[in-house]
Formats: sequence, C-alpha cells, structure tokens
Amino acid sequence: MCFTQNIDTLERRAGVPESKLVEAHGSFATHACISCRRKFPDDEMKTAVATQEIPRCKHCKGLVKPNITFFGEGVSFVHCQCVSNFDHLSRSCRMSFI
Ligand SMILES: [Zn+2]
Repeated sequence: MCFTQNIDTLERRAGVPESKLVEAHGSFATHACISCRRKFPDDEMKTAVATQEIPRCKHCKGLVKPNITFFGEGVSFVHCQCVSNFDHLSRSCRMSFI
C-alpha cells in the first residue's frame, strides 16, 4: 500500500496502481459535483481549466471540484478505513517513508 498526502497524482504517474494507493487528501485524478456527488469527466475538467470556465454538473448544475480535501473538510471514508487497518498493514510492510 502507498499512503500519501500528495494531491498531485505523482504516485499514479510513477506507476502505483490505484488499488494500492490511499490518497489521504484526495487527488486531482477525479472530480465530482459538490451538490449531488456525481463524477465529472477528467477531459471536461481539463477543458474547463484551459478555457477558464467554471465547471458545472450536467445533472444538477452544481459546482464541480477536484476530489481533494480542502482545509476544514473531513478526510474521505476510504482513508479512515485504511487508517484503521494501518496497524495490521504496517506489520507486513517492507519499507515505509514518512
Ligand atoms: Zn450535480
């Protein structure tokens, strides 16, 4: 497993499979509507950024943001589950970078 606080998708670009990755603060790899939580396509987010348009959900017209955790927001449920298993995982870990 690779636990990271990076949001820049560096681990993904280095080849760490998503199934082995726990991104504590989310990442720019995926995006979602802040109202209905529906996923937003990556290519459309890149277009919105390049054209300086505010991305809107096609379903409810809510704002869309990258799935990263901003200051004041709680960490994801998946991260909490992984942290609760961290003691077990750390015993089988070969190498750890902190
Ligand atoms: Zn929506």
